[in-house]
Amino acid sequence: MSSNSILVVGGGFSGITAALEAAEVGHEVFIVEKNPFLGGRVAQLNKYFPKLCPPSCGLEIQFQRIKNNPNVKFFTLAEVTEISGSAGDYEVQVKISPRYVGPGSAELSGLAEQLDKEVDSEFELGMGSRKALYTDTPFAFPSRYVLDRENCSTADVQKLAGSEAIDLEEKEKVITLNVGSIVYATGWKPYDVTNLTNLGAGSVPNCISNMQMERLASPNGPTNGKIVRPTDGEMPKNVAFVQCAGSRDENHLNYCSYICCMASLKQAAYIREQYPDTRVTIYYIDLRTPGRYDNFAKRIMDDPKLKTVKGKVADAKATPSGNVMLTVEDAVSGIKSENEHDLVVLATGMQPSIAGTKLPANIPVDEEGFIVGGEDQGIYAAGCAKLPLDVMKSAQSATAAALKAIQTVRGR
Ligand code: SF4
Repeated sequence: MSSNSILVVGGGFSGITAALEAAEVGHEVFIVEKNPFLGGRVAQLNKYFPKLCPPSCGLEIQFQRIKNNPNVKFFTLAEVTEISGSAGDYEVQVKISPRYVGPGSAELSGLAEQLDKEVDSEFELGMGSRKALYTDTPFAFPSRYVLDRENCSTADVQKLAGSEAIDLEEKEKVITLNVGSIVYATGWKPYDVTNLTNLGAGSVPNCISNMQMERLASPNGPTNGKIVRPTDGEMPKNVAFVQCAGSRDENHLNYCSYICCMASLKQAAYIREQYPDTRVTIYYIDLRTPGRYDNFAKRIMDDPKLKTVKGKVADAKATPSGNVMLTVEDAVSGIKSENEHDLVVLATGMQPSIAGTKLPANIPVDEEGFIVGGEDQGIYAAGCAKLPLDVMKSAQSATAAALKAIQTVRGR
């Protein structure tokens, strides 16, 4: 039976945009998101381009539009396990893991605080911890706690058992959706720094990734927005950014990740706003400022305390004092030097979230994991599932994918 409904896989900025565009012209849309909350990577940022807004400003508007639109139904902790059928008439199996927390139970912070066990927070990317009962951000959507049942101590389970908001017996469910077309907006993940053996492989304590820097700078992050060295909580005085950390490298990501030059310039501005005396050095191969970002880059680079060095960082090691020693081959002078910094940020690239996984439908992907086809089946990729993009271009890509999905269900 043909269906006018559309499935959107992924509830980040692209997925939400595609869903709303289709829902607001009358289509029933289902969002399937694997995490407990919508918002994707944007929710983790301190500020995002082009206007350098905090993520709450863009996302809260989108969440409000979802709340006000009965055409949008979303499932969190959910995963597409099987897709059968063809364009216009797909049957999709979705596995939904238990949340253990019922609707209408927004305020559980008191109960969460009483729990003993703390675990690393995935959202804070190793920079902070959380309880087993948690939300990610003050603007998390849905505004409903989630329980990480596997990380409850026996004492925690006893405390939770007394709460009417918690259902410790909730079970996994599988539901079937009938849809006419599908948008894949599965987004990206930061390239795994443990692969970067020459840059410390994630084991040099004051050498962090650019996404970790976003969490440090975020007012709702682990340090309430204060940018400090992870080892001692001290103010950094001499920070370095290492560009193309894993990108444009045939042994890692064989492409430019598009946004990490701009991200480093943005993060250099975070540092300089907090610490007027801190020096920043950016080591780069090329500094890419696509489209209309030239003026922004120029303004940041006019800062006399910011230095750019055209050169490849060949090595990063911890020093006995807890600093980071970088070995840099200067591309202009040809001289190899060792430069010590008290905080180093690796501008790690974007890898598609689905890289290395098997998609349920026979959707073509390239060797890097980007979706490169599916249109002939009524399946459309959006945002960073297709190529590395910034938030604005992801939204444009999602709108285009929604239009194609609408055309498919309308038989055009
Ligand atoms: Fe390298 Fe800049 Fe491209 Fe990122 S955007 S891969 S840092 S050139």
